Amino acid sequence: MARYKDEQCRICRREGQKLFLKGSRCYTDKCSISRRNYAPGQNGQKRKKLSEYGTQLREKQKTKSFYGVGEKQFRRYFEMASATRGKTGEVLLQILERRLDNVVYRLGYGSSRAQARMLITHGCFEVNGQKVDIPSYLLKEGDIVTVREIRKDNGVIKLNVEENSARPVPEWLQKDANNLNGKVVRLPVREDVDIPVEEHLIVELYSK
Ligand code: SF4
Repeated sequence: MARYKDEQCRICRREGQKLFLKGSRCYTDKCSISRRNYAPGQNGQKRKKLSEYGTQLREKQKTKSFYGVGEKQFRRYFEMASATRGKTGEVLLQILERRLDNVVYRLGYGSSRAQARMLITHGCFEVNGQKVDIPSYLLKEGDIVTVREIRKDNGVIKLNVEENSARPVPEWLQKDANNLNGKVVRLPVREDVDIPVEEHLIVELYSK
């Protein structure tokens, strides 16, 4: 099925926020949110007041889109977070941040999480010296993610390293661009996570 070419931008416009789904374009003035910050569709310019349920649902959908996670997996992450000590919403965000595709993106080796997923499934990365081609792989403290030796000449990765050299890397990660790797120096806390979400609304939604 043909995909509408601005599909990802439509998601941002629906949420009224930049979700950084399209790589380098998101950081330029070509971003659709900068140009048309209203919901897509005929009645998009008339923002409706959402019910309590609607607001909670939007926060969940926005978070799923931000990390590129499907409903089933998102629910599984929520259950993992509920069974873990700490504030469920914050633990949920920590789990999502620990995904390998997110870390590859955060380190700037992928221009977006979607592209990071593609590079991972094509076998471009290893964790602690072992090839990992599962984007949802959850990293832990001390893990080292490296571009595999045989993929170091990959043109897409090279371009990303160049283009994303100025993009800030969160404090819980340490990037070594010369050796094309990055380390999880500690697990992320809420302040490290830049997603504009009120995670307690997701907890309220799933707790009904
Ligand atoms: Fe499109 Fe990226 Fe802007 Fe979202 S942040 S509207 S995906 S360009």
